[in-house]
Amino acid sequence: MSGLAGRRAVLQVHPTRRCNLACAHCYSSSGPDQRAELDVRVLAGAVADAAALGYRQLSVSGGEPFLYGPLAELLRAGRAAGMANTVTTNGMLLSPRRLDPVVPYLDLLAVSVDGPPAEHNLMRRDPAAFERMLRYLPAVRAAGVPFGVIFTLTRYNADQLEWLVSFAAEQGAGLVQVHPLTQIGRARTDLPAAGPDATELLAALAELDRLQRLYPGLELRLDAATTGQLAAHRAELVADPDGPLADLVPVLLVDDHGAVTPLTHDLDRSYGLGSLAYARLSELAAAWQATTAGRLAELLAAAHDRLVRPGADPIAYWYDTVAELSRSMPAAMPVPAPGQMPAAVPASISAAVLAAVPAAMPASMPAAALAPVLAG
Ligand code: SF4
Repeated sequence: MSGLAGRRAVLQVHPTRRCNLACAHCYSSSGPDQRAELDVRVLAGAVADAAALGYRQLSVSGGEPFLYGPLAELLRAGRAAGMANTVTTNGMLLSPRRLDPVVPYLDLLAVSVDGPPAEHNLMRRDPAAFERMLRYLPAVRAAGVPFGVIFTLTRYNADQLEWLVSFAAEQGAGLVQVHPLTQIGRARTDLPAAGPDATELLAALAELDRLQRLYPGLELRLDAATTGQLAAHRAELVADPDGPLADLVPVLLVDDHGAVTPLTHDLDRSYGLGSLAYARLSELAAAWQATTAGRLAELLAAAHDRLVRPGADPIAYWYDTVAELSRSMPAAMPVPAPGQMPAAVPASISAAVLAAVPAAMPASMPAAALAPVLAG
C-alpha cells in the first residue's frame, strides 16, 4: 500500500457542481440543478500559475467533470504546464463523444464505485447507476486510459473491500483508493453519523493490507494514517510557512465559483486564498503567504500534536482533524465590516490582499466539499 511519502502537490479543480446524479454521500452537494461553471480561460491561468508554484498534478472533480464542456481544453492546459492529469467521474457518461476528446490528455481516470450493484445504486440514488458505469468500462480499457476505482468508506461497509478489489482487478484497474466519508455537504444531512470511526478505519487498513498481498499488481490506498505514520512524516505534514507554497499546502482547491482554499474544502473559510474572480492565483498566493501561511502552519502543528498525543486514536484521516481544529483556530484575517472600509486604502495593502477578503466572508462561499487527491 502507498504511504504518505512521495506525495505530489495537487491542484484540485471543481469546474462545476452540475451532475447527472445527486448521491447521498456527495460532499459537494452536486446535482442536476447546479448551473454555475468556471470559465476555462480563468482555470487555464490558474493551472499555469499553480505549475509555477510547484503543483505537479491537476485533479478535476465536480460535479461530474464530463458535464463540463471545455474539459479537454482544461486538461490540455494541465499537460502544457507539465502536470499529470486525473479526472474523477461517476463513469455513467463516458460515451465516445465525451471520452475521446479527453483521452490524449488523461493520465488517470478515477471511477467512483460504492460497492456491489445494490449498494452502489442505493448510495447513488439511481437504480441503473452501476449498470451504466459498467457499460462504459470496456471503452475506457480500449482507449488505453489508466484507470482506478475510488470507494467511499462509511461506518458500515469495510466488509465490501474484498468485493471491490476483486472487481477492480477483473476490470483491469491499476488503483483502488479508499476514502473515508466526511460529514459535509449532502452527507451531513442524508448520512448523519455514517463516517467511519477508528475501528472501521483500522478494519479497512487490515483488510487492504491482506488484499494487497493477494493482488500485488494493484495499488491499494487508504486515505488515513496511523499514529506512527503521522509521527514519522511530521516534516511533510507541517512544512515551513516560509518555504514553497506547494510544501505547506500540498492540495490547493478551486471551487465552481473560483474560490481557492488550501488543503480541504471544509477548512475554516478564514484560511481561504481568495477568488480567481478578483485576481490571478499567483497574486492570491503571494498575498496569502504574507498574511496567512504562518497561521496555517500553527494549525497544522496543533492538529499533528492532537493526533500523536498519548491516548489518541491509532488511525485518523489527517484533513478531517485539520478542518475540525480550524474552526476553533481561525486565521486572523482582517475582514472589515460593511461601512468600515477605510476611504483610502493604505498603500501597504495590495490589491491581491483585498481580493482575498471575499473568501473570508461566509456569504460568499458555496456549500463545503471535501479535498482528497481524487474526489468523486
Ligand atoms: S458524489 Fe460525484 S457523482 Fe455523486 S452527486 Fe456528487 S459529484 Fe455527482
